[in-house]
Amino acid sequence: MRIAIIGTGYVGLVVGTCFAENGNRITCVDLDEDKIKGLKNGVIPIYEPGLKELIARNMEEGRLSFTTDTAEAVKNSKVCFIAVGTPPGDDGSADLTYVLNVAREIAKSMDGYRVIVTKSTVPVGTNHLVRDTVAELTDHPFDIVSNPEFLKEGAAIDDFMKPDRVVIGSDSEKASAIMQELYAPFVRTGKPILCMDPLSAEMTKYAANSMLATRISFMNEIASLCEAVGADVNEVRKGIGTDARIGFPFLFAGAGYGGSCFPKDVRALMMTAKQHGLSMDIIEAVENVNAAQKRLMFEKVEKHYDGDLAGKHFALWGLAFKPKTDDMREAPSIVIANELVERGATVTAFDPEANAEARRHIGDKISYAKDALTALEGADALILITEWNEFRHVDPAEIKSRLKEPIIFDGRNIWNSANMREHGFVYYGIGTR
Ligand code: NAD
Repeated sequence: MRIAIIGTGYVGLVVGTCFAENGNRITCVDLDEDKIKGLKNGVIPIYEPGLKELIARNMEEGRLSFTTDTAEAVKNSKVCFIAVGTPPGDDGSADLTYVLNVAREIAKSMDGYRVIVTKSTVPVGTNHLVRDTVAELTDHPFDIVSNPEFLKEGAAIDDFMKPDRVVIGSDSEKASAIMQELYAPFVRTGKPILCMDPLSAEMTKYAANSMLATRISFMNEIASLCEAVGADVNEVRKGIGTDARIGFPFLFAGAGYGGSCFPKDVRALMMTAKQHGLSMDIIEAVENVNAAQKRLMFEKVEKHYDGDLAGKHFALWGLAFKPKTDDMREAPSIVIANELVERGATVTAFDPEANAEARRHIGDKISYAKDALTALEGADALILITEWNEFRHVDPAEIKSRLKEPIIFDGRNIWNSANMREHGFVYYGIGTR
């Protein structure tokens, strides 16, 4: 199938590449000329495990190409995906400017029937808005499909190639059939393609992300109570995760969730509710708990030093909002780095992939080390914010020998507190003893 993917960001690039890998002819479009030029020359704008090799193979075999020319891509494609950003507007609701711009561009370039698919995460009702926007500008027939994306950064290719389910929201049997044909190779293991109406498909995406964010904030709240009463959240997690009704995923206490999806989607859902005269009390609490959680590691550091952080120097391990990505959007590391610097401390940070991206978000008010051990040299303490596996492999003796004082603030509970104390560390975790 010939497909245009309009918006070659995290989602567009992964989706386009994976469709190409399954034999489709894909044109990925982006407004950003540098990005497209780079991609044509093998420069991948994001870090995502396995993506570089997959792009190279599919380009070489002629199934994947990149362009800034939307009109040309739409002319050559039966299915046109909209995969542009839907960032939060000033009031927290999703900004649909980019989505509707693309809808207009598709409408103006169509020369026959097209399936127009919204891959971007959009508020309930947006697909009807896209339909009306396109209909105003073309007489050619088309169908609209809502096809929300559930991939996780860091495991994006696996998630897309082997999805738990595919959601297709459409009122058209014809478009639904085309989408089912396109996704058939991805669900050979028997995972379902769920066909539903567009409103329910749009809501499914927000409900999924809000549920996952709820689990995280719930565990973070339990962790604080564990700390207060002397329980250990790691034990409690095992105790409840083994309950089949609960399960293990998304039960880790930590320094708060970030990224381009949970924070913005939770806020956008609240705005949708507000526009319909409803309040979402649980979701509002999820957001408030997370905002407090992002400050928690800073507060632990502040408490340890009795509020006197001036002149202290900290090593910060992990900057990306989670491991295996360089995405810094809404990362908890930004909050803690800014707080420390504001209070007169200095910071040397290291992230295996996100140093450059972090510089764009935090700037030069902190310095960036070339590796994890260098970041530790002469620091008063180590603060860990992102649980990259390579941090788990460092010998505690190596850490101790480089720090001025053996103090660790572990924002992801990657170390065992008893072990670290045996190694002579003053150890602070989240919700642990
Ligand atoms: P992104 O910001 O990485 O990429 C968006 C791209 O669209 C940019 O490269 C931008 O230049 C391009 N663009 C904007 N207007 C354009 C236009 N008119 N024509 C062509 N290109 C244009 O965004 P993303 O992280 O890929 O997210 C895209 C959507 O997918 C969002 O709605 C997001 O919520 C959703 N989503 C993201 C993830 C994720 O993990 N990142 C997961 C699921 C869903």
